[in-house]
Amino acid sequence: MSKGLPKRSEDYSLWYNELVKRADLAENSPVRGCMVIKPYGYSIWEKMQAQLDKMFKDTGHVNAYFPLFIPKSYLSKEASHVEGFAKECAVVTHYRLKNADDGSGVIVDPEAKLEEELIVRPTSETVIWSTYKNWIQSYRDLPLLVNQWANVVRWEMRTRLFLRTSEFLWQEGHTAHASKQEAIDETVLMMNVYAEFAETYMAVPVVRGVKSANERFAGAEDTYCIEAMMQDGKALQAGTSHFLGQNFAKAFDVKFATKEGGLDYVWGTSWGVSTRLMGALIMAHSDDNGLVLPPKLAPIHVVIVPIYKGEEELARISEKANEILSKLRAKGLSVKYDNRDTHKPGWKFAEYELKGVPLRIAMGPRDLENNTVELARRDTLTKETVNLGEVAIEDYVSNLLDTIQDTIYQKAFDFREQMTTEVNTWEEFESVLEEKGGFLSAHWDGTSETEEKIKELSKATIRCIPLNSKTEEGKCILTGKPSRQRVLFARAY
Ligand code: AMP
Repeated sequence: MSKGLPKRSEDYSLWYNELVKRADLAENSPVRGCMVIKPYGYSIWEKMQAQLDKMFKDTGHVNAYFPLFIPKSYLSKEASHVEGFAKECAVVTHYRLKNADDGSGVIVDPEAKLEEELIVRPTSETVIWSTYKNWIQSYRDLPLLVNQWANVVRWEMRTRLFLRTSEFLWQEGHTAHASKQEAIDETVLMMNVYAEFAETYMAVPVVRGVKSANERFAGAEDTYCIEAMMQDGKALQAGTSHFLGQNFAKAFDVKFATKEGGLDYVWGTSWGVSTRLMGALIMAHSDDNGLVLPPKLAPIHVVIVPIYKGEEELARISEKANEILSKLRAKGLSVKYDNRDTHKPGWKFAEYELKGVPLRIAMGPRDLENNTVELARRDTLTKETVNLGEVAIEDYVSNLLDTIQDTIYQKAFDFREQMTTEVNTWEEFESVLEEKGGFLSAHWDGTSETEEKIKELSKATIRCIPLNSKTEEGKCILTGKPSRQRVLFARAY
């Protein structure tokens, strides 16, 4: 129940954790850093998956599946890749347990040691490029546009439900191309697909940009990303798309016969979004009463709650409610009629508010008399009485859901704009970061050393170099050295 949900203004982090648990989205598991995604949370993830999957297929991609385990030697083949992931790898060393001789329980059988250790995939470039070597001989085999839906493991030290877990669910696209330009185009295309998904379906505005060298994916030449702003002024990386150059093709010796009769290494990309998107969705819109879900991703669009005394009144209300329910369902909406007599209407109202159901229809005896219903919006918490004789309820509700989707997006957009500040000096940078947070648009001299130093001093990192950022002469906020473009800094999840 929403009663007692901590307030965002008092403890944002506690508010988030409590909300995730109380709205039945996920909970911690016996294994540190791994979560149980509960049915209600999973149903939102399934809606995300379905839409993303459609967008991948509409852009020519197909799904496949690769193994969970990666031989250790594979991971080492691309030098910067292994360096980036080594610190967070789960390693399988044995394949059998046995009873301890002293009866103390089950132990790892020392005789069942694997000849080569296996890494639980933190990402699948290596195993996929070792496979691509067999799939690609000539330019006729290209492009390969493959996606996989899977789980991965990165041994994270500081975990948060959905936002950063040791095991997470994601999709990873891995494509292979005959030319550099085609691979770059693919990288940008998938960043744009992610941005469209975030904005149109999640109602979360994002900045499209390129990562600085420090924040780049291990093994990539360039990492494109979408960055979102959360209500506490911290940024969240919501998706990444990597241009891999020929790095993995070289590491796994994947060459192709070119159209011109030569032999060249294949160009690659990889791109991924994870269950972190659930965290973004929750943090971007929800309030002190609970979840606020954009209609396009809400598992239930409308809940109908009867307000009645006695069986006879419930029967009369139910007849009308079922009529409305059929009309709404015929319109393709997901509707729940909650006529349970085990809970009071007030309890149900709070429960569906907590769960973020975008619209609630309440019907009591007076509504029956007047041929009306009470319609309550979750996003604005406003109510109105609708006369069923004057409007077609299915059209009215459907239009209202569209309005809610737009309103939620606009609210998040306005917030993001208000939380983006141009700063020109180090003093300004520090004070805005402390007092307001958000995105800080500032000049930077382009070096990794300065970026590191700024991170050390302020805990803010370069979220991205926005793609729409204009050329502008300026001075680095830290070193005063010349800069030709502003980049976005923020403290981030
Ligand atoms: P990467 O392969 O590092 O580019 O990450 C791909 C996607 O997974 C990005 O959208 C990240 O935001 C997300 N991600 C990375 N690490 C985690 C984690 N520990 N938990 C959840 N999502 C993650």
